[in-house]
Amino acid sequence: MLKVENLNVHYGVIQALHDVSFEVGEGEIVSLIGANGAGKSTVLKVLSGLHRLTSGKILFHDQEIQKSATKKIVESGISLVPEGRHVFAGLTVLENLEMGAYLRKDKGNLKKDMDHVYERFPVLAERKNQDAATLSGGEQQMLAMGRALMSKPKLLLLDEPSMGLAPIFIKEIFAIIQEIQKQGTTVLLIEQNAKLALSIANRGYVLETGKVVLSGTGEMLLNSDEVKKAYLGG
Ligand code: ATP
Repeated sequence: MLKVENLNVHYGVIQALHDVSFEVGEGEIVSLIGANGAGKSTVLKVLSGLHRLTSGKILFHDQEIQKSATKKIVESGISLVPEGRHVFAGLTVLENLEMGAYLRKDKGNLKKDMDHVYERFPVLAERKNQDAATLSGGEQQMLAMGRALMSKPKLLLLDEPSMGLAPIFIKEIFAIIQEIQKQGTTVLLIEQNAKLALSIANRGYVLETGKVVLSGTGEMLLNSDEVKKAYLGG
């Protein structure tokens, strides 16, 4: 579904990614793990058209998208849940969800899809008329995911969904990610919490200072001595 080939990305003179290549197959959860500053968020920024690559190719369903505008990328079926959520403060939960569907052409099914999001995240239904800024961190993460799902993505990009959340919320969010996969959406998950991210992943890649240094099935990486030593506390 997604094929990333030899991505090189710079911020000014700083090179953030070096020849990064990876693939995401239809229906998979693929996790990209790595320490702070390894380049994980940069991968997602480039995939969503928010930052341009210096060289390389991004193929989504065999179409090159590396020069496409963000709007086109969303329309083609890729939706990003950014780090730190970025829900729209001053808008209600309902309005935030409506914003997620802004670029959709098939507006006829919005009500059904909104109900579906409320089913998946009952707390959002309870709070639908509340200002999004008043939600807790975990609820904002759910809202950001619900908002992304309202665009009916084929591929959902999640940037550090566990960041800053209490363990109970993290568990819930990760269960929901697996449910989203079961219902047919492919997921690319970026996480510092390597254990969690690999435990739900079909496959994973390890990024170190902008390079892919290891890849394999989630299970294989969880059991790899290198990963254990560097990311799982021995
Ligand atoms: P984190 O978990 O901290 O977000 P990350 O793995 O997502 O880490 P990136 O944010 O992608 O890493 O950063 C990769 C590299 O690019 C780092 O060296 C970082 O300092 C640099 N970088 C990121 N954004 C910018 C920017 N806007 N300007 C300059 N350098 C940047």
